Amino acid sequence: MRILIVEDEKKVASFIKKGMEEEYFTADIALDGKEGLKMATSEDYDAIIMDIMLPFIDGISLLKEIRKREIITPVLMLTVKDSLKDKVEGLDAGADDYLTKPFAFEELVARIRALLRRHESSKTPTLHVGELVLDLQSHKVLRGEQEILLTPKEYAILEYLMRNSNKVVSRTKLIEHVYEYHFDPETNIIDVYINKVRAKVDNNFDKPLIHTIRGIGYIIKDE
Ligand code: CA
Repeated sequence: MRILIVEDEKKVASFIKKGMEEEYFTADIALDGKEGLKMATSEDYDAIIMDIMLPFIDGISLLKEIRKREIITPVLMLTVKDSLKDKVEGLDAGADDYLTKPFAFEELVARIRALLRRHESSKTPTLHVGELVLDLQSHKVLRGEQEILLTPKEYAILEYLMRNSNKVVSRTKLIEHVYEYHFDPETNIIDVYINKVRAKVDNNFDKPLIHTIRGIGYIIKDE
């Protein structure tokens, strides 16, 4: 799951990002409304956390702009104080939920999970590739009877591959999804992580599921 955080207070933004990553999300930060609009419209996010007071484009205008472009990604608005006007405007503009600053991180995560659940309720809560099963809610990964223990980054890589099973996923797409928006695409870190995931998912089994497509990327398939 990939989250966009639009927040100009760097401390708050990185606090949210760090926390979300510990909860198995990946998160990008946009430090103003203009950057937020660019990222929300060019990248694929599962949810957006958005402050109302932002430089260049405020949160309400940004949200209206996003909804005008028919992007239905769930949005949680952060309001500074218990301002009824902000809440009403935010909900009118198409926000799915709001949270008043300061907030407890646990509440933010709970609300984001609830938003994702509502948004995903029609979709399947598990991903399957052959005997490999990934549970999107509990983050448990099983291959046959054997549980596979992954770090949050390894899990994010496997989830993305499994969401795109039987399709080649380019290294760039994988880096964009699992790492930061501004990540250097020349780095080989993704290969290092893929090797770790592969060691856990494939090494003790007869049939490999993760395959390298030389010069392009990776594919997970059962055939
Ligand atoms: Ca702000």
